[in-house]
Amino acid sequence: MRELVADRAERTRLLVVQPPSDAVHPQPDTKDWTWVLGRRCDQCGLSAGDIEPAEFAQRAFVAAEEWVQILRSSPAVTARPEPDVWSPLEYGAHVRDVYRLFDGRLEQMLKEDTPTFTNWNQDETAIEERYSEQDPEVVAEELEAAAQHFVARIQSLTPEQYRRRGIRSDGAEFTVATFLQYFLHDVIHHLWDVTGQQDAAASLALE
Ligand SMILES: [Zn+2]
Repeated sequence: MRELVADRAERTRLLVVQPPSDAVHPQPDTKDWTWVLGRRCDQCGLSAGDIEPAEFAQRAFVAAEEWVQILRSSPAVTARPEPDVWSPLEYGAHVRDVYRLFDGRLEQMLKEDTPTFTNWNQDETAIEERYSEQDPEVVAEELEAAAQHFVARIQSLTPEQYRRRGIRSDGAEFTVATFLQYFLHDVIHHLWDVTGQQDAAASLALE
């Protein structure tokens, strides 16, 4: 997938549209992040709802590359910055599972008519799968493999398929297009989570 990789400035643009503004509005205190499809996220700076389908595969690929880089190069990959904040390793394991989960759900949306997704409790999964004890190098390899699979599936999508639908267990309805926008916000927002409140260029500088 190397040919998908853009130059440094382009990579920065793909990962964060603009730096977070000074006037940060409080984010809704809810686990439902579907609002990110309607407006720009004040934290990570991404306007997910404005991302064009033509960029879905490339953005999913570049974000995965950043995660692999963090898992392989972060000096404190297993350290939690705060007792209740995930370490880069735990975030990376979560992101690997997000790539896998969304790949499976995308496949479901393509094969079934408006499927309802089974619920996924990400906090329980983190504990059950012992994210904090996983090997960062193994997680990096698994994330890379999951992303390659997912990116290939995105690249195979036809314009008609972007209109297919799926429903989350809480009732939130997605098209393939909004589902992928939602996905991109998730993995890019978590880059922001591990790189602190600087712009995502901080993680890009790790290379
Ligand atoms: Zn965000």
